[in-house]
Amino acid sequence: MTPAQTPAQPLLIVGSIAFDDLDMPTPDGIRPHRDVLGGAATYSSLAAAQLTRGGVRVVGIVGTDFPEAHLEGLRSRGIDTAGVERAQGKTFRWHGRYSSDLSSRTSLDTQLNVFADFSPKIPAAYRNSPFVLLGNIHPKLQVDVLDQVQQVQKPRLVVADTMNFWIEGEPAALAKLLARIDLLVINDEEARQLSGIQNLVRAAADIRKRGPSMLIVKRGEFGALLFDEAGTFFVPAYPLEEVLDPTGAGDSFAGGLLGYLAARGEVTPGSLRKALYFASSLGSFCVEGIGPSRLLSLTRAELAARISAFARLVDHGGELALPI
Ligand code: AMP
Repeated sequence: MTPAQTPAQPLLIVGSIAFDDLDMPTPDGIRPHRDVLGGAATYSSLAAAQLTRGGVRVVGIVGTDFPEAHLEGLRSRGIDTAGVERAQGKTFRWHGRYSSDLSSRTSLDTQLNVFADFSPKIPAAYRNSPFVLLGNIHPKLQVDVLDQVQQVQKPRLVVADTMNFWIEGEPAALAKLLARIDLLVINDEEARQLSGIQNLVRAAADIRKRGPSMLIVKRGEFGALLFDEAGTFFVPAYPLEEVLDPTGAGDSFAGGLLGYLAARGEVTPGSLRKALYFASSLGSFCVEGIGPSRLLSLTRAELAARISAFARLVDHGGELALPI
């Protein structure tokens, strides 16, 4: 079977589902947005569902205050929410305030609520998922998810995200996770912190020795770098005239990446490089709206147009021989 004929494969996404309170800068001061649908699993699944019909399966936890309409919104986009647990209590809530140029943000408040006791239970029907995205949760829980999935079969691709909180606070648990994953997706600051090495190329080599054969380092508006067996590859961020809200861009990037690979059903250095353009495109749409609003309104035609624009952005004519 040629790669083009490989059928789409199910994708399991585990992570936070949240209410976000976002303080966004405007020329007239801070504009508050309250009770915005958020969470890493929300952004990743919405992005992935734009690219694959193979089945995006979400595992997360919400409280009794979480509107069923939000879950219905995910389902209407083909996302399977049977793995979203509803627990007594309040949904995870995060409050962030962005700097005036949107380049940094401060977490003003994090209320774990039902997320504090989250112990992901992977439904039996999800355990055969060949593609797995472990969103940023405690590395012990990420390993626990893998244990449940691997009882049935070894996934074709396991991807994980993490953050400074776990790098600082849970290095031993994180080391165990790294030994079990194929691809780590983190930002440049996290790569430096995890490796203790300032130079990103050396940092990447160090991290890949700890387990993941592939590493993606996200650099926000400066694009992303992939390090794998075939070498180093760069994808830019799509240049936008207006950025409204960077929340969830990294999660949308990861969702786009996995959505593309799951739809193609194969992981090769070539498919990974193509997937990075879809990842970057989904990240670029995410930041064009407050919360996940732009991902929710995104049409197939708009996505196709951005991918074409992306291809033109990096097309230099196909030959770069020295002129003399
Ligand atoms: P990103 O901008 O890609 O880092 O993702 C932002 C999303 O992560 C927001 O929607 C938050 O609800 C969620 N989030 C913030 N803090 C945490 C945390 N400690 N654990 C899990 N998810 C979080």
